[in-house]
Amino acid sequence: MAKRDYYDILGVSKNADAAEIKSAYRKLAIKYHPDKNPGDNEAEEMFKEAAEAYEVLSDPEKRQRYDQFGHAGNSASGFGGGGMNMDDIFSQFGDIFGGGGNPFESFFGGGSRGGGRRTPRGTNLRIKVKLTLEEVAKGVEKKVKVNKLVSCHTCNGTGAKDKSSYHTCNTCGGSGSVRRVTNTILGQMQTTSTCPTCNGEGVEITSKCTTCKGEGLERGEETITINIPAGVSEGMQLSMSGKGNAAARGGVPGDLIILIEEVPHETLKRDGINVIYDLYINFADAALGTSVEVPTIDGKAKIKIDAGTQGGKILRLKGKGIPEVNSYHKGDQLVYVNIWTPKVVSSEERSILEKFKTSANFKPQPGKSEKSFFERIKEYFE
Ligand SMILES: [Zn+2]
Ligand SMILES: [Zn+2]
Repeated sequence: MAKRDYYDILGVSKNADAAEIKSAYRKLAIKYHPDKNPGDNEAEEMFKEAAEAYEVLSDPEKRQRYDQFGHAGNSASGFGGGGMNMDDIFSQFGDIFGGGGNPFESFFGGGSRGGGRRTPRGTNLRIKVKLTLEEVAKGVEKKVKVNKLVSCHTCNGTGAKDKSSYHTCNTCGGSGSVRRVTNTILGQMQTTSTCPTCNGEGVEITSKCTTCKGEGLERGEETITINIPAGVSEGMQLSMSGKGNAAARGGVPGDLIILIEEVPHETLKRDGINVIYDLYINFADAALGTSVEVPTIDGKAKIKIDAGTQGGKILRLKGKGIPEVNSYHKGDQLVYVNIWTPKVVSSEERSILEKFKTSANFKPQPGKSEKSFFERIKEYFE
């Protein structure tokens, strides 16, 4: 069968503008809509034909090709042969009838015809977990008592008073959706919508559980074991699927969202995957050398301070830092050496220090072997 002219189909002139084309198509779409003409194959053909004509004439590029080459011009677009399928046609409607005012929206919303059974879903639950630096470094298993909505113990979450008051919904036969015929501005329409009796859940409760008033939920407590991997940091969120609030009447529980909080360490500071410790030694120890104990996340570590150590030196304890999450890569502990200068001196100390002032060894004489401040910082970031 030869294809009819697109302008003829829509009943518009070759010079029709976009608004005329749209308006003409809207009238035809309403007239030949399959839900208005159930079982009428001719109407369905007219409906498809109009949709195809609109598809081409509403697109300036396709329209130009059509004007130039006729039907052959757009055969590559897929409409030359079999025509448009119904889903394509319906998805076009949002644009034809405008957003909120689309009379087909409730019938073909989201591209699917009819709702399925609706499963209730529990809400997500958020908790905070405080971690020490040691726990962050090694990872930890935390047992946390969580206050949440749980299945009602009286009705086992069904929301029904007893077995006899819980049965498949008579209105929808358990499918959760009903078809009905409604009068709209477009005439009679058959529509599929959520079953009003069971609210889409497919079951009907004739007598509600008195403990939970039919909700199937009650407040309860659950001790949840949370495995926190090493390397997490402040503000990070972990999620445990299905550990949130229970859902009404046997639905899917929500998730448990765990927000990480770091408890500051007394002496160590975290900087990404590294741990920083500020060490203060006195001037005599810096000059003569010593050995000191420093705290680490694994307990105390002994470190040697060489004779003649300058203030500002950074010592690195390899692998004594924090691991990256889900990685074998681990940071270091960095020990900043600070020389403590006495703030108060006795008269005896003063007289000794006065003597140092004139000693040749005490004259600052930084040489090539001394690393600059910037070199030290650079080293730290490497
Ligand atoms: Zn109950
Ligand atoms: Zn129902």
